[in-house]
Amino acid sequence: MKAALFPDARVSSAYALPYEKLAAAGYRGVIYDIDNTLVPHNAPADDRARALFERLHAAGLVTCLTSNNKEPRVQSFAEAVQSDHYVYKAGKPGKRGYLQAMSLMGTTPETTLLIGDQIFTDVWGANRLGIATILVRKIHPREEIQIVLKRMLEFFILVAWRIVLWFRGEQETAWLVRRIGEKNEPDNG
Ligand SMILES: [Mg+2]
Repeated sequence: MKAALFPDARVSSAYALPYEKLAAAGYRGVIYDIDNTLVPHNAPADDRARALFERLHAAGLVTCLTSNNKEPRVQSFAEAVQSDHYVYKAGKPGKRGYLQAMSLMGTTPETTLLIGDQIFTDVWGANRLGIATILVRKIHPREEIQIVLKRMLEFFILVAWRIVLWFRGEQETAWLVRRIGEKNEPDNG
C-alpha cells in the first residue's frame, strides 16, 4: 500500500524509461501528460516526441495522451505524435479522465502506466485507481503562478517520500528495479 501522493518511481525524463522491458513485464497502455512531461508548456510536438511514440507502438504499447488542456491543444499533439488515443479537459486529479483513458486503451490499472510531471495533477488521481505512476522532472523551469504554488507543496511531498525511501534503503527508481530488474535509461533525447 503506497501513499496517495507518492509516485511509484521518479526518473529524469519521460524519454529515459526502458519501455520495451515494461511491455515485457506486462504493461499494455501508457497514459501521458503532455505539458512539461513530453514538451515545454504549450510547445508543439517535436521529433523527440514523435520518435518516442513510434518506439512505444513498436514495443506493443497503446498510448493515451491525457491532459487538462483544451481539445485543440491535445488533439493536435495527438495527431502529431500519432497517439492511439487522447483525453482532453481530463479533470485530473479526478478519476474520470483516467477511467476514460483506460477504457479507450482497453487496459486495466494493473496493465497501465501513468507518466507525468505533477504530483497533484498527474500522480494523485492515477494512484487512487491503482495505476503505476512514474513522475518525471519538468522539462521547462518557468511555470504559471498556480503551478508554482503546487510545486511548493510538491517539494514537501517529495521530501516526505525521500524520507520513507531512506528508511527503506531505496532509491527513487526502486520500483522500476523491482518490476523489471533495472532502473531508468540515460535520457536519450
Ligand atoms: Mg504537466
